[in-house]
Amino acid sequence: MSGRKITILGGGQSGLQLACGLLQHGYEVSVVQNRDAEDLRTGKVMSSQCMFHDALQNERDIGLDFWGKECPTVDSINFVVPSPEHAGEKALEWNGLLDLPAQSVDQRVKVPVWMREFERRGGKLEIRDAGIADLEAYAAGSDLVVVAAGKGDIARLFERDASRSPFDRPQRALALTYVHGMVARADHSAVNFNLIPGVGEYFVFPALTNSGPCEIMVFEGIPGGPMDCWKDVAGPSEHLARSRWILETFLPWEAARCRNVELTDANGILSGAFPPTVRKPIGKLPSGRLVLGLADAVCLNDPITGQGSNNASKAARCYMDAIVAHGDQPYDATFMQDAFDAYWNYAQFVVGWTNAMLQPPPPHVLNIMGSAQAMPVLARRIANGFNNPPDLFPWFAVPEEADKYLRQLAA
Ligand SMILES: Cc1cc2nc3c(=O)[nH]c(=O)nc-3n(C[C@H](O)[C@H](O)[C@H](O)COP(=O)(O)OP(=O)(O)OC[C@H]3O[C@@H](n4cnc5c(N)ncnc54)[C@H](O)[C@@H]3O)c2cc1C
Repeated sequence: MSGRKITILGGGQSGLQLACGLLQHGYEVSVVQNRDAEDLRTGKVMSSQCMFHDALQNERDIGLDFWGKECPTVDSINFVVPSPEHAGEKALEWNGLLDLPAQSVDQRVKVPVWMREFERRGGKLEIRDAGIADLEAYAAGSDLVVVAAGKGDIARLFERDASRSPFDRPQRALALTYVHGMVARADHSAVNFNLIPGVGEYFVFPALTNSGPCEIMVFEGIPGGPMDCWKDVAGPSEHLARSRWILETFLPWEAARCRNVELTDANGILSGAFPPTVRKPIGKLPSGRLVLGLADAVCLNDPITGQGSNNASKAARCYMDAIVAHGDQPYDATFMQDAFDAYWNYAQFVVGWTNAMLQPPPPHVLNIMGSAQAMPVLARRIANGFNNPPDLFPWFAVPEEADKYLRQLAA
């Protein structure tokens, strides 16, 4: 539908993917982004951004995969629970192969290239930290304004949806450590996911950063526990030392891979915390004009299941399809709600699964995760659930369904 004007506030995973896709369909698209390409490229890491096949395919479909050959693949999910009684031993371990590989391209690599690609395709990029007054101007001059500002403060313009947001405070103390020099796994590559009961989670996987292939360490510390340990860390080398301390203390098999690691760069670290929050998708400006929220701005999850960038890709795809299918009809409240609802039909499962993983596991989940060690089919299904979380339902959520499914597998 050529000629219709769409403004997207926020040029990250979802905003730029939607923007580049809409340009291909002939829309006039502007992106307003508060950091320029050089600032993003040389700044701090923002995510671990492991993306599974379906989310990557959305990028490929609109010609945005520039790193498919260069970026190492993640070929499986490896799940480990350390023994609570015997320090240094594993109580549980299984590996589930992914049907198709995942990949993680550092957003510091990806976003600047996408910004350039967006402009090359004819998009208008404005570098500005936009506020409500700017949104009013964009709304007055555009057929549709989409807010894809991630965790940016402006997302507060969307009302928190209490019925879909069970937590009002952070559920994990988060940290990222990007390193070179980690020993590769013996067999195929993996997201090595370690669940330390009462302490938190550690996962690690190969990725591509500014200086080439690397490994990304992700720490998820339960608040108040020993892995909630980042507030007093003074600088990059202390951050790396603290990362190693966690592995040496709780996960010696991971520490063994890290004897010679060094940071990819002084900005290859991050720590912080935020409450997972779902918001209402329609924001009303003081003038009464409406704007539509996209991805993290309205559906922000804890990184424990590594779904945020995957969600962003799927949300952007969903909105692109809705916009194109809408032809030249007005982008009114009904359109906005329908576009979000189509996404929520998928995202509700991701939110449900992710929030469940933040809680101590109920007996049926312990049973599923334990049974996977002896049942490769189950391990594989859980692993591929990271690509398509709705496939984990209802059996991961409902105890009777879990029992039924496990009985079927055993037979
Ligand atoms: C520690 C950590 C680990 C993670 N690991 C994974 C993982 O392994 N897998 C995964 O899928 N996801 C992961 N994520 C989540 C993932 O990175 C995000 O969910 C994803 O980037 C969200 O995309 P988005 O487009 O909604 O927002 P973003 O990618 O955050 O983009 C928002 C953009 O808007 C800009 N912006 C904000 N406010 C304004 C403003 N007022 N004006 C102009 N511009 C503005 C920002 O600068 C930013 O560029 C992780 C996140 C964290 C914190």
